[in-house]
Amino acid sequence: MKREEMLQRLDDGTVWDMVVIGGGATGLGTAVEAASRGYRTLLLEQSDFAKGTSSRSTKLIHGGVRYLRQGNLSLVLESLHERGLLIRNAPHLVHKMSFVVPVYDWWEGPFYGVGLKLYDVLAGRLGLGPSQLLSREDTLRHIPTVETKGLRGGVIYHDAQFDDARLAICLALTFADLGGVPLNYLQVTGMYKEGGLTAGVVARDLESGHDFKVKGRVIINAAGPFVDSVRRMADPGAREIITHSQGVHLVLDGSFLPGDSAIMVPHTDDGRVLFAVPWQGRTVVGTTDTPVPAASLEPRALPEEIDFLLTHASRYLSRHPSPSDLLSVFAATRPLVHTHGGVDTASLSRDHTLIVDDTGLVTIAGGKWTTYRKMGEDTVTMAARVAGFHDRPSVTDGLRIHGWREGMGQEYPLQAYGSDARQLETMQDENPSWREPLHPSFPYRAGEVIWAVRREWARTVEDVLARRTRALLLDARASMTAAPQVAELMAAELGRDRVWQETQVSAYLDLAKGYLP
Ligand SMILES: Cc1cc2nc3c(=O)[nH]c(=O)nc-3n(C[C@H](O)[C@H](O)[C@H](O)COP(=O)(O)OP(=O)(O)OC[C@H]3O[C@@H](n4cnc5c(N)ncnc54)[C@H](O)[C@@H]3O)c2cc1C
Repeated sequence: MKREEMLQRLDDGTVWDMVVIGGGATGLGTAVEAASRGYRTLLLEQSDFAKGTSSRSTKLIHGGVRYLRQGNLSLVLESLHERGLLIRNAPHLVHKMSFVVPVYDWWEGPFYGVGLKLYDVLAGRLGLGPSQLLSREDTLRHIPTVETKGLRGGVIYHDAQFDDARLAICLALTFADLGGVPLNYLQVTGMYKEGGLTAGVVARDLESGHDFKVKGRVIINAAGPFVDSVRRMADPGAREIITHSQGVHLVLDGSFLPGDSAIMVPHTDDGRVLFAVPWQGRTVVGTTDTPVPAASLEPRALPEEIDFLLTHASRYLSRHPSPSDLLSVFAATRPLVHTHGGVDTASLSRDHTLIVDDTGLVTIAGGKWTTYRKMGEDTVTMAARVAGFHDRPSVTDGLRIHGWREGMGQEYPLQAYGSDARQLETMQDENPSWREPLHPSFPYRAGEVIWAVRREWARTVEDVLARRTRALLLDARASMTAAPQVAELMAAELGRDRVWQETQVSAYLDLAKGYLP
């Protein structure tokens, strides 16, 4: 459905069964869950889908070796189960990846080896292969560029990797396929109540400035790091439940970590887990955990976070990266739930928290990308109870994500589109220039910009370069060069003028500068 048609649905007097605020992993997962159970559902995102934390993750679908160390076995079990479902339901976006823990001290091999055997056991029949101790030679075969000084061997285990923003877009498409209405650039600015209970929201179309009053039987707050500000719209006295920290990733050329295996460092100087992961022809190194005073849609890396990551990467890579090697640096806000607050609180997993306020507003916070489906399931079950709906069972554990297609091969440049790739190819016949590459640094073609506008609700140059394609993360500088062409292609599709193009390019250049060290 086109955006204009969806906007009309906001004015036609519909009372939605569920209105979801926030178009990140949590909101999209909840919306898919609600629509697949047959609820009439609207999703409102103030910016673009996955504009927040959900496009800036480490790109891992994992059980969480970190939680294993903390002894949180139930969470590891839940995550490993969800990992298995995702590989099955979104094979075009999620694939298996091997991780190697390099061993430099005699005790590390047996120590991590035993821990990772437990990980194998917990994965059960959804396991992706047994973990194993590696000799020095085998470690080098998997990670040819690992630091060799003092290297004794390694431990290999298996998890999965994905494209976070593409999964978000595919979830928005799945939601629409199920009859749901996903709207980006619709900001919830207020809430209204009937008899003390939330009965709807005021949503502003940030493109036209028009305000819509939207009615819903239950309102779900999935605003990620911003859930407190949304709760205060319903109840100005609501106590804060979130503290914020940020995590930073560095993007380096793929030659720093050639091959298909990632490095996992179980213990950094500040006691965290660190990853160096091959991703889309580049190497992604992350992450940090730095307390920040407030949530931001565009957090920026601090110089000390970049130093920390470069220092640690240099310990494990034979070629030591320096600031001039950075292709992009991206940061994400981590919402940490510190109290349950409210009444009728349900903490259904130790990783995500559901709160129902006195006003009937349902808030879902915390969790991770890997468990987005389970979070959605728990949230919709609770929301249905709040709205007084009859129980309807969840069907998402077997629901194929939009574009589902197996066996495409990661080398295929349109793999992320899955079963849509064929249509995209055909669409490019309309204009031979759409087959031209956007920029020599990227695998993207001009036709993908047109597709993003026509089929994936891209509205700005940033939507295309940051989330429909991943150009901004893969090489921020090169993406700036591609911006004028993207603006021109979009303007022709959207019927925009030169001024729009110039404003878009200048906004994009400002944004992309923030991804350069
Ligand atoms: C550094 C880092 C690395 C991570 N790596 C991984 C990983 O590898 N694997 C994994 O499984 N998990 C990972 N996670 C966790 C995962 O990324 C998050 O749990 C998930 O993305 C959170 O999604 P969300 O939808 O809750 O929040 P967000 O993605 O932030 O979405 C919230 C959305 O709400 C919107 N919103 C806010 N206010 C309003 C309003 N008033 N009206 C309308 N919309 C509004 C925002 O614009 C935003 O788009 C990582 C997290 C961090 C911080």
